[in-house]
Amino acid sequence: MNVVDRLIEEHVLRTAEYVELLKLADNQDVVAQLADEAVRLRKKNYGNKVFTRGLIEFTNYCKNNCYYCGIRRGNQHARRYRLTKDEILACCVNGYELGFRTFVLQGGEDPFYTDEKMVDIIGTIKKKYPDCALTLSIGEKSYESYKAYKEAGADRFLLRHETATEEHYRMLHPVEMSLDNRKKCLYELKELGYQVGAGFMVGSPGQTIDNLAEDLMFLQKLKPQMVGIGPFIPHHETQFAAEPAGSVDMTLYLLSIIRIMLPHVLLPATTALGTLDPKGRERGLSVGANVVMPNLSPVKNRKQYELYDNKICTGEEAAECRGCLGNRVASVGYELVNERGDYVESL
Ligand code: SAM
Repeated sequence: MNVVDRLIEEHVLRTAEYVELLKLADNQDVVAQLADEAVRLRKKNYGNKVFTRGLIEFTNYCKNNCYYCGIRRGNQHARRYRLTKDEILACCVNGYELGFRTFVLQGGEDPFYTDEKMVDIIGTIKKKYPDCALTLSIGEKSYESYKAYKEAGADRFLLRHETATEEHYRMLHPVEMSLDNRKKCLYELKELGYQVGAGFMVGSPGQTIDNLAEDLMFLQKLKPQMVGIGPFIPHHETQFAAEPAGSVDMTLYLLSIIRIMLPHVLLPATTALGTLDPKGRERGLSVGANVVMPNLSPVKNRKQYELYDNKICTGEEAAECRGCLGNRVASVGYELVNERGDYVESL
């Protein structure tokens, strides 16, 4: 059986087979076959629904110095901001009215938000909105911190592994950061009962097909409930400023593959995809993605959370974003729904 049929039949491949599959990314028949199967699976498991997550980018301070990221510590030109608890809650009020039933608190790794502060914020949001899911995306913490956030009510955690290959990880991160620790965090989050999201950038500097195959193997082993992938996009204040952006087509191909590997996965059509291609998110939804993550952050701070250049949706109010995305989702035959949109093993 060829690798395409084997992925469709068995949902699992070996590393060398993923390499073979990734080399077929230019074969339009294969691309279409995998996209069809991915869409069939997402419809079987989630119907026409697209889940929406209200993204609250609450701090762009970061103690890390990831070479690719616009808000890394070493970027002296970033205008830093932090949202107060009241500002975060105001985002939730706005989001709830607009129909959001998942809030995502995302930020740089900012020691200002101690565990005590995070537990207070998480607890307050969950008390005010018991019918909503709360997702955290605040980087690498200790097991005890993750446990405290979970006990305070956090439901999900997004922590892209970025790359599963040590050599490639070293090209993207300074020496004080560790891939082993990042992977360990993901396993600990799973153990604590979070719905966990891993993922990576497509086309990050130095990335090879072998690296991508390792990323898929890592996802196959971890079995996360969510996977976030999007193209790498250069930021002018990083050492990768002159590197080319990742490929939209390769990102779309990978979305289909990941949907087939993990048929129930919650898979966003990311803002980065929409940044490189005006129809990128619609195209993502048409090849297996089932989540969108519009911005709920205060408009005054949107541009400051600049991970990469030319990020879209930094000027509109949340209501406009919600409306715009609803239309985009409908334009490709899906429906943006006001639900928590939890991972369901078998529906
Ligand atoms: N600090 C948290 C963490 O480390 O998981 C969450 C925030 S971090 C900025 C969110 C994600 O942005 C990263 O996981 C990375 O994949 C993505 N990102 C950063 N720089 C990027 C770039 N230049 N292009 C595309 N995505 C980027």
